[in-house]
Amino acid sequence: MTTLNVQHADETDEMRSWSEIRSDFPTLDQTIQGEPLTYLDNAASSQMPEPVIERIDRYQRHEHSNVHRGVHTLSQTATDAYEGAREAVAEFIGAPTPKQCIFTRGATEAANLVAQSWGRANLESGDEILLTRMEHHSNIVPWQQIADETGAEIRVLPVTDDGELRLDQLEEMLTDRTKILGVVHVSNALGTINPVEEIVERAHARDVPVLVDGCQATPHLSVDVDAMDADFYAFSGHKMNGPTGIGVLYGKEAWLEEMPPYQGGGEMIRSVTFEETTYADLPNKFEAGTPAIMPAIGLGAAVEYLTSIGMDRIAEREAELLDYATELLEAEEGVRIFGRADDKASVLSFDLEDIHPHDIGTIVDTHGVAIRAGHHCTQPLMDRLEIPATARASFSYYNTREDADRLVEAIEHVREIF
Ligand code: PMP
Repeated sequence: MTTLNVQHADETDEMRSWSEIRSDFPTLDQTIQGEPLTYLDNAASSQMPEPVIERIDRYQRHEHSNVHRGVHTLSQTATDAYEGAREAVAEFIGAPTPKQCIFTRGATEAANLVAQSWGRANLESGDEILLTRMEHHSNIVPWQQIADETGAEIRVLPVTDDGELRLDQLEEMLTDRTKILGVVHVSNALGTINPVEEIVERAHARDVPVLVDGCQATPHLSVDVDAMDADFYAFSGHKMNGPTGIGVLYGKEAWLEEMPPYQGGGEMIRSVTFEETTYADLPNKFEAGTPAIMPAIGLGAAVEYLTSIGMDRIAEREAELLDYATELLEAEEGVRIFGRADDKASVLSFDLEDIHPHDIGTIVDTHGVAIRAGHHCTQPLMDRLEIPATARASFSYYNTREDADRLVEAIEHVREIF
C-alpha cells in the first residue's frame, strides 16, 4: 500500500482548513500574465497536491523498476506499490475486489475496452446500444465504431432544456433489442448529476448491463460502484488530483471473466506457444504490456489524499462554491447559464451575448483566470442546446469565493472590450 503522511478525517481531532488544504497545491501559487492564477478548469484536469507529487518523486528516485516479472527487490517494491495503488482505488470506489479494477490510460481507453471486448463478444446486427444525449465523445465514438463493425444500432435518450435526462422516456428506449446502456454519472459540460442508481436498476429490470462514465463523479462525490450495481464504471486519474496517463475500468467480475482480452502482448498471458495462447487471470488479462506504473502509484496517492479530506466534505464545499458562483453569474448582464439540473456538480457553463466562448476564455486568461471554452467533447449535447460552444468554469474544493469573484470581474472586462 502507498503510505501518506496525511491523517484521515475521522482520525483527526481538528479538520484541516480549506486554506491549509489549498496550500498543498503548488501550481495554484503562481501568477499568470502578472495576475494570481485563478484555476477554474478542474473538469479538464485538476491540480496535484504535495503528497501526490512526493509519492511520485519517491517512486522515481527510489523505487523505479518494472512490475510483476522481476525477482529482484526493486521490482518487488515497484510491484507492491503498483498493486497497493489498485487496492487504494478499489477501496475508494467500493469495488468488492481490487482485481475488478483494470488500470487503463484513462476513461477513454476504459470505454474502448468495454466497446471492443464486451461489444465484439455480445453485439450483433439489429442489437441496440442505448446512450444519452449528454455523453462525452469517449462514450459515443467507441460505440459507433463497434456498431459499424457488428451492425448494431445506437439509440439516444434525450435531455431536457435544463440539461436533465428524459428518464420518462427510458422505459420505451429500453427495448428487447437493447444490449447495453452507456450513461455519464456527472456531465462534464453541464454538471448534471444523473441518478445512476435508478437508471441501473431500471436497465437491470430489462436485463441490460450499464457502463457508467464516472470521470466527473469520482473527483466530487462519494462513489460506491457496488451499491450502484454498475456493470462497468470508468474514470481518469488526472481529474481527481492524480497524474495523466492513468485511469480505471471497474467491472463486475462475471463480465470481466467472460470478456476476451482487449489487447495482446506481455503481462496478459499465462502461456504462449505458436499453436495456442492462454490468458492470465484478472486483472492482468486486460493489462497487456508494461503498465503506467508511476501514474498508477500517483493515482493511489491521489485517492488517499481525497479520502483524507473526505468526499462528503468535498461535495459540500463544492456545492457551496457552485451556489455562490451561480448567483454572481446570474447577476451579470448578458450571461446565460446552461445546465439547470436540480442535482448539479461544480460546473458552470455559460455564454455571454454573442461573444464567442473562445474569446471569453482568451480574455479572462489575461486576468489569470483559467476556464475552458468549446464543445467540451459533447457536440451532440451542444447541438441539442443549439449552441456551438460554452465557456465553462469548473470548481474544485481548493477554489475559493475569491476565485469566483475574479471570474466575474474578468467577465465584466470581456463585456467592456466588446
Ligand atoms: N468522460 C467525461 C465525462 C469526461 O469529462 C472526460 C474528460 N473530459 C472523459 C470522459 C474522457 O477522459 P480522458 O480524456 O481522461 O480519457
